Amino acid sequence: VGMYSCGPTVYADQHIGNMRAYVFADTLKRALGWKGFVVRHVINITDVGHLTSDADEGDDKLEVAARREHRNAWEIAEQYTRDFKADLERLRIIEPDVWCKATDHIGEMIRFAEVLDAGGWCYQLPSGLYFDTSKDRDYGKLARLDLAGQQAGARVEVVAGKRNARDFAVWRASAPGENRQMEWDSPWGRGAPGWHLECSVMSIEYLGPHFDIHTGGVDHIPVHHTNEIAQSEAYLADGRPWVRWWLHGEFINLRGAKISKSTGGGVLITDLIDRGYHPLVYRYLLLQAHYRSQTEFSWEAMDSARAGLRRLLDRFAAARSEPAGRLGAAAAEHLEAFDRAISDDLNTPRAIAAVVAASRDDRLTDGELTALAREFDAVLAIGVADLAPADLDLKRSDVAISEAEVKTLLAERNAARAARDFARSDQIRDHLASVGVTVEDQPGGVSTWRWT
Ligand code: AMP
Ligand code: ZN
Repeated sequence: VGMYSCGPTVYADQHIGNMRAYVFADTLKRALGWKGFVVRHVINITDVGHLTSDADEGDDKLEVAARREHRNAWEIAEQYTRDFKADLERLRIIEPDVWCKATDHIGEMIRFAEVLDAGGWCYQLPSGLYFDTSKDRDYGKLARLDLAGQQAGARVEVVAGKRNARDFAVWRASAPGENRQMEWDSPWGRGAPGWHLECSVMSIEYLGPHFDIHTGGVDHIPVHHTNEIAQSEAYLADGRPWVRWWLHGEFINLRGAKISKSTGGGVLITDLIDRGYHPLVYRYLLLQAHYRSQTEFSWEAMDSARAGLRRLLDRFAAARSEPAGRLGAAAAEHLEAFDRAISDDLNTPRAIAAVVAASRDDRLTDGELTALAREFDAVLAIGVADLAPADLDLKRSDVAISEAEVKTLLAERNAARAARDFARSDQIRDHLASVGVTVEDQPGGVSTWRWT
């Protein structure tokens, strides 16, 4: 199985929302491996070309980050790539067989664009080389785009001279006087590749012209993957679909809206750790939802995920003193239920239900449970094969406190204030400050709090 997963743009920390895409891809890959397939997995690192909008608007995210942080774009890419990989490891995401980054493949990208250009798919503007989407009869098939309906009100003028609203840059020429940190010479002027180009070029380079699975987030469907398909099929020109299956992971939300940096919801895996949660608690939380369903993040949801995972570990860890034994009929049934769930479009919530059912089945021997835990963990990687219940609470540094504990202390403080016991009220406020919580008393007696 050849599998390509669109990787991160390394201009900032990857938040827990971003990580959902990789937990999904990893679980899919593990499931295929468990079913006996040999998987070759490629993840790219986008270190150039991704503009602040997914279309051809704004500036390169890396150049923006370089200006914001007063640092070199290359250094920024390196740092956030390193941090991203550390998070993958924390979530037990298996490293891909190939890591590839855009800036290592500029020559290949230029050659690919030359083929498109020579094939009559592109036109040149002062701002770069554009793919003419009207030349592709199938354009938008993945996203089932209603092009006729969209063209009417679409903003073509964003880039001067663009023929169709959805035409996209294959190569972006630097503007006169623009001083980019990352730019290269090309037949269409000095500049940088368009974002979509890297994924077409590198997936074909490492997996062959046609491969089995391409994954990404749902937000990749309308622009990024639509454009990858258009240019790859134009390049290959063999009349066959480029990729056999596209799988997209849904969003995880915070208070109903997609977790994202721009809305202030940039919770990181390291934030979970700081608050004492083992990262696999988050993996367990994610897998409780099907990858095509939206799901909701909250600290309460983290607490229930931890409680649920702890109940599993209570049973599986206790059984671990027995070596893995042969599965009897009852145990084999649980394994089959697990297999059916996983084999049904990666239904992880149902697979977890099978794990829970096994953990509660008192007909099973410890040896059977130990054997089952290995099978379950080969796919889910939630720690049932090797973690102990106590592992789920990370050693708290003195700064960590749960949200529930904060609320209890604040209630106590409000009661103290109402009783005019200001000494006690101040004592609680100082204690909270020492564990990283800032309390602010608002006019009217209301107190608000936030993590410092
Ligand atoms: P961004 O940095 O926002 O462009 O996100 C990079 C990728 O991470 C997106 O294309 C999504 O596939 C994924 N992603 C971002 N936010 C979320 C989220 N809240 N839930 C799931 N996936 C997300
Ligand atoms: Zn991609």
